[in-house]
Amino acid sequence: MASTVTVGFLGGLGEIGRNCAVISQDGAILIVDCGLMFPNADMPGVDLVLPDFTFLHENREKVVGCVLTHGHEDHTGALSYLLRELSFPLYGSELTLSFARNRIEEAGLLAKTRFEVVSDLERRQIGPFTVEFIPVTHSVPSSFALAISTSQGLILHTGDFKLDLTPVDGRTTELARIGALAGDPGIRLLLSDSTNAEEEGFTDSETSVRSALEGLFSRYEERRIVVACFASHIHRVQQIAEVALAHGRKVFTLGRSMGKNVALARAQGILRIPESELVDIESIGKYKDSEICVISTGSQGEPMSALSLMSAGESRWIRVGENDLIIISADIIPGNESSVGKVIDGLYRRGTDVAHPGTDHVHASGHARRGELRTMLSVAKPWSFVPVHGEFRHLVNHARLAISMGIASDRVLLAQDGDVVVLTDDAITYGDDIPAGYLYVDGVVGDITKGVLRDRRTLSEDGVVVVAATVNLTDLELLADPEVTSRGWIHPEDDELIRELQGEARKAIETTLKGGTRSIDALGRNVRSAVGKKISSTTKRKPMIVPVITEI
Ligand SMILES: [Zn+2]
Ligand SMILES: [Zn+2]
Repeated sequence: MASTVTVGFLGGLGEIGRNCAVISQDGAILIVDCGLMFPNADMPGVDLVLPDFTFLHENREKVVGCVLTHGHEDHTGALSYLLRELSFPLYGSELTLSFARNRIEEAGLLAKTRFEVVSDLERRQIGPFTVEFIPVTHSVPSSFALAISTSQGLILHTGDFKLDLTPVDGRTTELARIGALAGDPGIRLLLSDSTNAEEEGFTDSETSVRSALEGLFSRYEERRIVVACFASHIHRVQQIAEVALAHGRKVFTLGRSMGKNVALARAQGILRIPESELVDIESIGKYKDSEICVISTGSQGEPMSALSLMSAGESRWIRVGENDLIIISADIIPGNESSVGKVIDGLYRRGTDVAHPGTDHVHASGHARRGELRTMLSVAKPWSFVPVHGEFRHLVNHARLAISMGIASDRVLLAQDGDVVVLTDDAITYGDDIPAGYLYVDGVVGDITKGVLRDRRTLSEDGVVVVAATVNLTDLELLADPEVTSRGWIHPEDDELIRELQGEARKAIETTLKGGTRSIDALGRNVRSAVGKKISSTTKRKPMIVPVITEI
């Protein structure tokens, strides 16, 4: 009997973000990706969300390394937190590692971290695992699927992928290699990207965006053009730059990460823009509008980003107006709709025109749709299947697709964060759960609890009512009428309601004291309950009620 292999999921299954899986065999653990998630609207004040690292802390001496599929932050962004506590080597493409490096460097962890650059189709022995790095196409260059040899056979993790037949760099997904592995030794378990599992058909090629860009550059020949996209989307930047140069424009970058990534990718030969055509933004004043193409960050309406500043009229470099065209060359990530909407409105108010994926074909997704997912399933011919990377509905639809393709339904497991699947000689089953709750970062890691978030939501929705009173616990008497103040709740001049609340608080305190209670806590509880009832019955709101009872 061969050793058992388990795959545990610390994040990314049931949400988009904080992708992290742990593969264990013979007392060794291989981490696959270690990403972060950006907070939703119901997480006020939260900067970032990380995977729960309890399992890795408890098994720290077993970790043999972390393999990175690609350079997006939902796959690499939590490393700078985990590496503070644990030390292990990182394996990935040169570009992936240099993107990951930024945050690790900022955290001051560069010296203690080993970076192992791997090239396409290279194989590495990492602990008991042999990992082969297989090229895939995605919205960041140099992405990999991972073929991980274990004692229970080959696990193929697709990473984030699409099957782009005409990618910008000509580096296509190595389906032939996956097919060869499927023949010999065969793929025991497939873990595959589910992001677009609800979308029929095939995702458009990245190069399909080019003609829309061409059209816009031709139509707006005389205008200054600003294109916003993700700073990691080097192939998009390449296409924007090529179209700009073809129209006699110089390329300027705006936004810290855009400048940094463009420099990195040029140094690695992944991005090709001639030195003479790339001009520092400080010199933008020397050029006519028709000679300018600015490639900028801020496609998600992030508050202090280059595009938001333009929209608010606060950009140091660009005062947008009627002679501008702004192209937003990115999809809106769910949750960012209203900030992007505001940015677009702000731009229109300044008289400029805006093109975005809703008006023109200026974006193509980086994730496979159902047609491509079917292709992957039929080429890989896996013995078992677990859908990864998606919200729950994406995972369900991907699992159903796999069953419809003929994989035995008892070998298609629907896993979520915290689930563990176990491979033995003759089965794949669920194992014991591992901790996988949200780890919130608000400046520091882990100080925010669910309770804090609930309070913040209450405060932001219904405000706070403070009831202050002074009592004498020796003589059991209330010394003055309680004071009621509020913030973010009702109009403070609603005197009548305030008087009623004072009355309720007074009654609650006097009744409690009359009963012989000498506890400040009990007084506070009773005041909170009496005032809360009154407020919810008269206003139907539930603000946070803070009793402040002082004893003299
Ligand atoms: Zn990605
Ligand atoms: Zn991803």
